[in-house]
Amino acid sequence: MRKLIFESLTRRPLTEKAPPVDEQAAHELAAALDRTARKRLGRSLAIRQVDAGSCNGCELEIHALGNVFYDLERFGLKFVASPRHADVLLVTGPVTKNMREALKRTWAATPDPKWVVALGDCARDGGLFAGSPACVGGVQSVIPVDLHVPGCPPTPQQILAALLALL
Ligand code: SF4
Repeated sequence: MRKLIFESLTRRPLTEKAPPVDEQAAHELAAALDRTARKRLGRSLAIRQVDAGSCNGCELEIHALGNVFYDLERFGLKFVASPRHADVLLVTGPVTKNMREALKRTWAATPDPKWVVALGDCARDGGLFAGSPACVGGVQSVIPVDLHVPGCPPTPQQILAALLALL
């Protein structure tokens, strides 16, 4: 026990340092996205996120958009609980066989006009999981995709820039 306490006091933390973030650029992107959404839709952008089978790495970056650093709700961007309230479906992961039907139904339940953003390398073509018998492939193989955001996973700034480009 003593050894364990000693080690925990002397060992360096195992976590890696967070990568540097350009705070100013992130805020400018978010503000531009809000302005564009209001011009285009007359209100802020509503996003429904769908995890079609990801490893959750992409979700961690999406969650970061709502943390105290990015705090995107300040700019009106909001994640909604139902596809019926969404403008954008933000889909992550390779589509698994179990999620294929759910993804199709979610897309059908989203009112027009709607956009689909495939987020991450897996969402493009299955990525790391391509060829797995549990997966059917990228998002495009199940529903029409308007924009693909590359990366494994894409950073919050890349996600913001992609949403802005979409609008
Ligand atoms: S793109 Fe990378 S982080 Fe995102 S679901 Fe695939 S493996 Fe995970």
